Amino acid sequence: MKIQEADAKSLLVAQGLPVPPWAVARTASDARAAAERLFSAGADQVVIKAQVLVGGRGKAGGVKLAGDPAAAEEVAAAILGMDIKGIIVRKVLVAPAADIRHEYYLSAVLDRAARRVLYMGSAEGGVEIEQVAEERPEAMTYLHAHPHLGLQDFQARELCFALGLGSHLKDFVRIAQGLHATMIANDADLVEINPLAVVRETGPDGGPVERLQALDAKITLDDSALHRHPGLEELRDLDEEDPVDIEARAEGLSFIRLEGDIGCMVNGAGLAMTTMDLVKRAGGQPANFLDIGGGARSDKVAAAMRLILADRSVRAILVNIFGGIARGDEVARGLVEAREQQERSVPMVVRIVGTNAELAAEILSGIDGIETATSLDDAVQRAVAASRAQVAGT
Ligand code: GDP
Ligand code: MN
Repeated sequence: MKIQEADAKSLLVAQGLPVPPWAVARTASDARAAAERLFSAGADQVVIKAQVLVGGRGKAGGVKLAGDPAAAEEVAAAILGMDIKGIIVRKVLVAPAADIRHEYYLSAVLDRAARRVLYMGSAEGGVEIEQVAEERPEAMTYLHAHPHLGLQDFQARELCFALGLGSHLKDFVRIAQGLHATMIANDADLVEINPLAVVRETGPDGGPVERLQALDAKITLDDSALHRHPGLEELRDLDEEDPVDIEARAEGLSFIRLEGDIGCMVNGAGLAMTTMDLVKRAGGQPANFLDIGGGARSDKVAAAMRLILADRSVRAILVNIFGGIARGDEVARGLVEAREQQERSVPMVVRIVGTNAELAAEILSGIDGIETATSLDDAVQRAVAASRAQVAGT
């Protein structure tokens, strides 16, 4: 799960990382009010940043500076509603603009193959980092943390010197350790600070001082570990979720959209994968993976059918249910209910075996657009044939 910059920054602050203060605004006038507070607290300039779950906002025009509240409002109005890589900007982050002397890159990523956290750093941070990593690998430093001891002090120092940040050694080590703590505390897959910037500020004696600040933050959380962090689930940004994913989660269905045209509805993950394999062997392409889980009440079946049909490329549906705890008649009733509601007619081949299979067959017999099959091979072949007939018909 990706989280927005503002939420990622909160997680960094929780581990003691230096991040400039910020506010999030959904309207230009709220952005102006936030900017006014920052100006009266002493900021010379503010930075307004699009909050969308994609990178490269700066290059897309989603990061802009403003020198007074009116300009902040104007800039915010221009960024809100902007389309960045297909995502409409609905909120902006407002922060005091940093006086950047140099931009560094620092990230931690879960390296599954090495079973360690991999650190990446570069003295050439900023918006061109992808290009740097690709074209000049020597400008990047890579280092694996210890699997049990984490990022050790000497490793953090090694990274620091590789980046040429020796004059900020103490702060850098603290930041790198904080990055590690952020990874571990939240079960993150990725924590990225780009830029980690050396910024110039006014020191206590009125003279300039330089220090490190995390000006941008990107964090990806491990979905499978979210149950261990109930608070983090709230950071999910429903504004940017695929509505299909939201509905699937709400109904307790495991649903993954694929490229093909045969919608599959199956109970049990193993059976779902087997069904997909058989569809492929018969020359078809599954449109999705869908495990409706155990029990499978009729309303859940109807919801699963809505998800399948929301995919316009689906030309045939294959239902493969092994009735154990899930009762065949209950599933059949759900299918009939779904059939009545659906506005698009797609041929459906249903194979239900096990508990109450006869009753299921009775319920489904004579329903327009539903074929029943008893053998799995037969069901798969008929579904593939039905999808082909649809292609031929269009
Ligand atoms: P990204 O493009 O989505 O990674 O967004 P960033 O937050 O990293 O901003 C992109 C670039 O805008 C940075 O690399 C900086 O060069 C610039 N930038 C961001 N925040 C500030 C700031 O506070 N002050 C100044 N002067 N530039 C900033
Ligand atoms: Mn960035």
